[in-house]
Amino acid sequence: MKILITEFRQESNSFNPVNSTLEFWRQTGEYEGEDVRTQFHGQACAIGGFFKAIDELQPDAEVVCGTVMACQSGGVAEQSVMDHYLSRLMPQIDKALPLDGIFISCHGALMTTEYDDPEGEITRRIREKVGDATVIAVSTDLHAYISKTIIENANIILAYLTYPHVDYVETGFRVAKLGLEAIAGKSLPVTAWVPVPMIAPAAAYNTLKGAFRDIIEYGNALKASGEIIDFSFYQMQPWLDLPEPNSSVVVAAKDEATAKAWAIRLADLFYSKRADFTLSLLPVADVIARAQDASQPKPVILVDSADSCNAGAAGDNMAVALEILEKGKDLRTATIVNAPEAAKLAHELGVGATAEFSIGASRDPRSVSLTRTARVKSLHDGVFRQEGPAGRGMTQRIGRTAVLSIGRLDVVVCEWMAGNGDPQLYRAHGIEPTLYDLVVVKASTSFRAAYEKIAGVICEANTPGAASSDLKSLPFSRLPETIYPWQDDPSPEWAVTFTRTL
Ligand SMILES: [Zn+2]
Repeated sequence: MKILITEFRQESNSFNPVNSTLEFWRQTGEYEGEDVRTQFHGQACAIGGFFKAIDELQPDAEVVCGTVMACQSGGVAEQSVMDHYLSRLMPQIDKALPLDGIFISCHGALMTTEYDDPEGEITRRIREKVGDATVIAVSTDLHAYISKTIIENANIILAYLTYPHVDYVETGFRVAKLGLEAIAGKSLPVTAWVPVPMIAPAAAYNTLKGAFRDIIEYGNALKASGEIIDFSFYQMQPWLDLPEPNSSVVVAAKDEATAKAWAIRLADLFYSKRADFTLSLLPVADVIARAQDASQPKPVILVDSADSCNAGAAGDNMAVALEILEKGKDLRTATIVNAPEAAKLAHELGVGATAEFSIGASRDPRSVSLTRTARVKSLHDGVFRQEGPAGRGMTQRIGRTAVLSIGRLDVVVCEWMAGNGDPQLYRAHGIEPTLYDLVVVKASTSFRAAYEKIAGVICEANTPGAASSDLKSLPFSRLPETIYPWQDDPSPEWAVTFTRTL
């Protein structure tokens, strides 16, 4: 048995005006061959899950490690990034043929300057090359945009079942297990896909509580009972300006009738919860007032999801910091911002120096910047390991980093923010969140996995940015306003498409 594994993973945001370049992608590194095993075997990622399944289920299989490229979320990727990936991958496939399987890890919500659905196009090109007999199994994020193209060219496709995402390894394992079983000739489940006409802000749901947890648990119960083999609920990343957007449901089952019937029932159930996937946002001033209330347990977490780099925003907005300096300068506050120039100046001046710094709007010209006298509190290389639970132990690199103090406000200034939901983004830079009154977290939901344990209260704030939760306020130009929340179709017609059979 011979299997090639590969990864091409980024989440795009159409409203970030700065395209993601190959240079930006390479911040996270690019691997192939044995370097992939060295870097990802045993790690908390989908590729780690592929390795785990192969080790446990088919230890004699020959594994060819194709190119692995992943990148922090950001603006639409330059086409040169996809072209580069394919220029590495396609010869690797040629050289490895014949292959029994290709296991692909992707996000699913990538856009390039030429393709709305690069993962679909890549899968189509791989299929064209390898023919019908090779099993193509795809692991995706729960926020993927799933297209008919990827469904019709893959045999197996599954997403994370948790949000905050804490099941990267498990998802890679689920995908690889079905792939290995299909290759071994035991079985290939029939996978049915049903698009659901809605999108929802990512901060409006999670699998820790509420309607979304309930439907995931329902799917898990169906799986546990043997009624279905596996499933995914896709909440499409809502900051993609696409002409045919959709959330969707995938069900893998033993036969076509079962897969189809359950995919429709789950799509119906998912869509019936659409009004639950909304949230009310607090004005920043109200969150500041809450942090000033002595009876309020601390820290107060101010969620600035609109500027979340995890959701592809620029992470360079000081709008919230400015308001805190105006209305809450008595508060011990921590925030973070992409401000490479400020970080560079801090490194030149050294620890303890005081100078005037211009901070913010380093990428998105619509972001707020501010100029203030600040003291350089500490300097860092920006390399840290996540504490998790999501991605525990994974290394993040945020470039040259410094902590600047403006009165009681501590600002982490860095080059490329990453790992936004993880407290180590602060802790690794000398900022212990539990010792602060107010902590700004630039993430939608991922942070809850760690922060719910240490927060006095979590406040979703109404802030400006490319990842705003107020979807109707965003400048969509291609997205048809015929889906929820723009239009509410009480009984949509469900269209079923099946993945490829062998
Ligand atoms: Zn996601």
